[in-house]
Amino acid sequence: MSRAVQTRLQDCLRELRLPTFRENCHSKAALAEKEGISFAHYLLELCEMEVADRRQRRIDRKKSASKLPPGKTLSAFDRSRLPTNVDRQLSSLVEGDFLDRRENVLFFGPPGSGKTHLMCAVGHELVLKDQSVYFTSCAALVQRLLRAKQELTLEKEFKRLDRFQALLVDDLGYVQQSREEMEVLFTLLSHRYEHRSLLMTSNLAFSHWERIFKDPMTTVAAIDRLVHHSVILELNLPSYRMEEAKKKQEEGDQE
Ligand code: ADP
Ligand code: MG
Repeated sequence: MSRAVQTRLQDCLRELRLPTFRENCHSKAALAEKEGISFAHYLLELCEMEVADRRQRRIDRKKSASKLPPGKTLSAFDRSRLPTNVDRQLSSLVEGDFLDRRENVLFFGPPGSGKTHLMCAVGHELVLKDQSVYFTSCAALVQRLLRAKQELTLEKEFKRLDRFQALLVDDLGYVQQSREEMEVLFTLLSHRYEHRSLLMTSNLAFSHWERIFKDPMTTVAAIDRLVHHSVILELNLPSYRMEEAKKKQEEGDQE
């Protein structure tokens, strides 16, 4: 390949935004020539490299946009603690089909049972499947929505959140909310209902949700919208932290 052709090709590939193609086309051309690889195969290999790199870059971007805690992955989660039925639910969730069905996922259990870690692990798996997800604490989300409401940009904020196939909301009901805070949360639930998936963790069983939504009618309406198309995971497990601490102590005692 002459130098002039090389330069022109580099320029074209830069303009077409094909960085992997640009980086590899000359070395691969030399190799193809040496090994007698056909033009079609040469082209196909470069295209496949570009597609794979582009996908990886997209996934990296989605991972950083997700705000997921980096360490809370599925590989860092000890699945042997999970009851068989929850483990089976988990296997199905990480496939991600529930997003197409706009289903919600609710994680219940006492503090330390692994709700947040498990929800994040599902989030990480979804990102690896090229889905857009966003993790936030319920308290931070409510503050963000409240601010948007005051600035008359709530609809815009909902649209921004619509870009994420899955919105992961941690610790619903952990902080006592004012009526106004509860209202924006309820509006969000209604907005996403049958439209986009929500994943939520809560220490509070449904029977206590009146504490969150203040009046019985809103509580029933909120539960109804969340549960209508949903998967519910019950982690009736002892605290992981406590068990780990106990194990350490026992190991110490044996020494
Ligand atoms: P919850 O949200 O239910 O209060 P977390 O998910 O925050 O509980 O879990 C508490 C701590 O224990 C976290 O550091 C988490 O990573 C860890 N943990 C909980 N369950 C497991 C598990 N099955 N495997 C590994 N680590 C776990
Ligand atoms: Mg938690």
